[in-house]
Amino acid sequence: MRFTKITATIGPATSEPTTLERLIKSGVAVARLNFSHGSHESHEKVINTLHDIQKRKRVAIMLDTKGPEIRTGDVTQPLMIQKGDEIIFTSKPTGKEKLPVVKVDYDGLPGDVKQTKVILIDNGAIEFRVTSIKGDIVTAKALEPGKIGSRRHINIPGAFVSLPSFTKKDWSDIEFGIKHDVDFIATSFVRTGKDIKELKNFLKQHKSQIEVIAKIETQQSLDNLSDIIDEADGIMIARGDLGVETPYEEVPRIQDEIILECRKKGKPVIVATHMLESMIQYPMPTRAEVMDIAHAAMGQTDCTMLSGETAGGMYPFKCIDAMSKILDANEKIDCIETMLALDDEMSGHKTDTRYQQAMSASMLARNIEADAIIVITKHGRTARAVSNWRPLMPIFAFTDSESVARRLMLSWAVDPYCISFSADPEKTVNDALAYAKEQKLIRKDQTVVIVSDILSGKTAVSSIQIRKVL
Ligand code: PEP
Repeated sequence: MRFTKITATIGPATSEPTTLERLIKSGVAVARLNFSHGSHESHEKVINTLHDIQKRKRVAIMLDTKGPEIRTGDVTQPLMIQKGDEIIFTSKPTGKEKLPVVKVDYDGLPGDVKQTKVILIDNGAIEFRVTSIKGDIVTAKALEPGKIGSRRHINIPGAFVSLPSFTKKDWSDIEFGIKHDVDFIATSFVRTGKDIKELKNFLKQHKSQIEVIAKIETQQSLDNLSDIIDEADGIMIARGDLGVETPYEEVPRIQDEIILECRKKGKPVIVATHMLESMIQYPMPTRAEVMDIAHAAMGQTDCTMLSGETAGGMYPFKCIDAMSKILDANEKIDCIETMLALDDEMSGHKTDTRYQQAMSASMLARNIEADAIIVITKHGRTARAVSNWRPLMPIFAFTDSESVARRLMLSWAVDPYCISFSADPEKTVNDALAYAKEQKLIRKDQTVVIVSDILSGKTAVSSIQIRKVL
């Protein structure tokens, strides 16, 4: 069994129903829809297909917001750029400009680039230096050749973009996500823990169980990392933007630090972007890409993510296969001792019964070389707590809520199932064991560690049990 999960972005290459079902069945735990692209109509089509697939194969759905990002407008033909070309960036083209024009979807660009003077297109594929700013017109010189197509991403590194953390479009997309029962909302360009709190309050008001994954992709979000991890349900290391908003040579260290911080705080973490970028065009990964995925697996991230590779690339299935193989071959590192060494820094959890129960169960299962851990989990928290210790074995999580089971898809080694819970916890455990045996998850004579409630008299108490499968 592979423990590290895969999130795949769905796009034109994979949204057709039979292709999408094949992709999910090939090992995708979370299907991501990028709301920087597409319409509600096109996303609704994909979500309806995913809801249909969910009847046969569990997969969580993640809505990734556009956030306060700046993009170029739609064009019929890409604008070809030569090194040294001067072009105009403006949100209000008049048609009378004397230089080629790139329309942008943000009025505040002239004010925001005043100090920083750098405009990057497509995560740095072309760099422009601002030569003049007059009213709504920003003129800039290309430092490299390239092309600018429709809705290309614009970064202005170092500048504070004066857009709100959630734009009008984001709120409308989030309402759409609530209505369409998505499992996660990934928030682009969040800056503070307060931003996450605001979204979580909004979801609470709408009685939604959706979990919030904060994307770390700006210097400001790094400055507020600890608060953001505390408020969010999980973190995405969005390396595409992060590597242009901060010096790219810093990203490997930042990635490792964020993974560790998330594990200290018991929050799932996703490593995203450019993991198999070359496979958008070629059927085999570069050896550097293999190293990158292996590095994330060795750091024991919960999940790795594919973007353009599965959304628009030529080899989406080969990408899932390559990523699966690399994760599987490199993730199995016994790190419980390392985690125990961090125990003091995990002080927030120290007196927490769930934390202690998860640690003890993981240690026990590892020391007796159990075959699996079975967790009975109402809201998914105990299953996540066990997963956080990275015991090198499957964690079969049984819950009575389909949406909890879907959200557990993101967590390292957790294989979630949905069963009815009985008032008698012993019956629930036996039902879970019977189900696991019937599904061939476990077999006779294997040893499992069970984390559940048991009855003491008439009172349910927390327990860790060792059982031989009958
Ligand atoms: C990223 O920048 O790495 C990222 C995941 O965000 P997006 O794909 O929305 O640009």
